[in-house]
Amino acid sequence: MSDNIIALLPDHVANQIAAGEVVQRPSSVVKELLENAVDAGATQIRLIIKDAGKSLIQVIDNGKGMNPFDARMCFERHATSKISKADDLWSLTTKGFRGEALASIAAVAQVEMKTRKKDDVVGQHIIIEGSKFVSQEECQTPVGTTFIVKNLFYNITARRNFLKNDQVEQKHIIDEFERIALPHCDIHFTLISNGNEILNLPAGNLMQRIKLLYGNYMQKDLVPVAEDTSFLKIGGYVSLPSAAVKTRKEQFIFINNRFIKNAFLNHAISEAYKELISFQSHPKYFLFLELDPKHIDINIHPTKTEIKFTDEKSVYMLLMSVVKRALGKANVAPSLDFETSITSDLVTSSDKVYTQPKVNYNPDYNPFKNSGPSSYQGKETELQKVNKQNWEALFDGFKQTSEEEAQPNTRDQHAIEDLKKESVDYNVFQLNFKYIVTSFGQNVVIIDQQRAHERIVYEHYLNTKSEYKISSQQLLFPEQIELSANDFNLVKDLKDEFNQLGFDIEEFGKNSIVVNGAPSDLQDINVIQTIEGVLETFKLNTIDAKIEKHDNLCRAIAKNTCIRYGKQLDDSEMKLIVNQVLQCENPLYTANGKPVMMEVDLTEIERFFKK
Ligand code: ADP
Ligand code: MG
Repeated sequence: MSDNIIALLPDHVANQIAAGEVVQRPSSVVKELLENAVDAGATQIRLIIKDAGKSLIQVIDNGKGMNPFDARMCFERHATSKISKADDLWSLTTKGFRGEALASIAAVAQVEMKTRKKDDVVGQHIIIEGSKFVSQEECQTPVGTTFIVKNLFYNITARRNFLKNDQVEQKHIIDEFERIALPHCDIHFTLISNGNEILNLPAGNLMQRIKLLYGNYMQKDLVPVAEDTSFLKIGGYVSLPSAAVKTRKEQFIFINNRFIKNAFLNHAISEAYKELISFQSHPKYFLFLELDPKHIDINIHPTKTEIKFTDEKSVYMLLMSVVKRALGKANVAPSLDFETSITSDLVTSSDKVYTQPKVNYNPDYNPFKNSGPSSYQGKETELQKVNKQNWEALFDGFKQTSEEEAQPNTRDQHAIEDLKKESVDYNVFQLNFKYIVTSFGQNVVIIDQQRAHERIVYEHYLNTKSEYKISSQQLLFPEQIELSANDFNLVKDLKDEFNQLGFDIEEFGKNSIVVNGAPSDLQDINVIQTIEGVLETFKLNTIDAKIEKHDNLCRAIAKNTCIRYGKQLDDSEMKLIVNQVLQCENPLYTANGKPVMMEVDLTEIERFFKK
């Protein structure tokens, strides 16, 4: 648990948090620069790195370049040429949209840029270091843009020290490179590391690109997938069951040409292979989904690769059917028997013959039909409205909505009204590292520090219900947690809620999960302990009372992340807790009904001394 209780203040600015999220490691810089080069319409993009990007990341493109004004502007936060409406994010045309990347990169590295537009005679050369603008001069440079990012995190030693060894960081870079190179086969990409060309991908078709990246044998391992329904278009390749492997490498799903992660869709594909490969092995796939961005639920953090659909189930069913059909068409008909061998992934001898899977599939199916034609043009639909609000929330920073809960009784209500009228500067002292003692008006008030904080955290999470998500920050080191089958199912069941509260959790094989991110205001928690504690509390609460899922989870998180007894608090921390608990809807009790504070009336004190 962090000492830094100030981080719990609900006036977080989402943009600040996002800026910290943009650049986590060299591969994040690579991703942003490559995306910008793609957006600039380049047909050739070269990536040059040294020491896994720690000392140098250079991206050279032959795209449209920038004029002198734009060249300077592009480093300003929120400078973007790409957004007029927030829902552009999932459109087919551009990748960037927040105008944050370059500003963020320039804040944590030494950056040099050369750029020239086709019709300009001279180009621009800009140097900017740690957000400090150093120079802008004219220069000779080919049409297009070159970014040179040196000494990443040179001014944030702690961050630099967190980077992993070159092998690991380079792996991250290659991952990002592949995720951008795969959907853009028409662009010639090269990757040079420490002077050696490690990838050279001339423009070509998808199969050529896959072969260059993963080996020629891919051609015989893969079968094409192609479907076009009225709301979802699916293309790409999936592997034959016989090509299944033990790892989940080479599983790619792109939505509108962006790489995404979605355990649900992975599952849909696995389902299509269900009786074809053993449960320990995994198919390979390179799937490209295209759909109208209106059907993507953008209530998610834009820097993340996770995505949700407004109707996830329909996408699931469709994807599963389509993959099944592709396998069926490819006439995958080896004889299967899973009883006879555990060692081989696919057993090819026996009498059980694989037949083409039954496909319940209607190519005209459109799960959004009911929303009427207006969802495609003209008037703003309810969904679009909500989406727009979500975007606005992202830009506005943190906001709270208040949610009614069990009403305190009238007597309490009066007490609460009175408390809230109290002035904001109290004398405070800590008693026994357990209680905060202060006075309101004529009364002495003793506040239980743990319960008060639990109340604060509880309401903070509870109030984020539906419209606004708690922002999540990616963990530098994602944590894998082994769970019991029961807890694993519980996590699966609560995944959306966890996600909304800022926990970025992914299923990871049998009964195990990976936590990739935690709420940005809980950065120093022990993730494993917290998740385990939260699950325990959640289960206990379901035994004790019937509490709604979201509410229960908020209670459990509050209980497991709040300040404990025994923690020494300084004056400002105590005052903050007092102030915040008084801002709560119900400062008198914890969510589970335990008293938070005790008030001793002056008259009672006087009565005592009269004796
Ligand atoms: P975003 O991509 O979200 O707009 P960035 O900070 O990544 O924000 O870039 C800011 C702007 O700089 C872009 O909108 C684009 O106009 C310009 N820009 C960045 N990189 C390039 C490039 N390689 N070629 C041309 N313009 C670029
Ligand atoms: Mg960008």
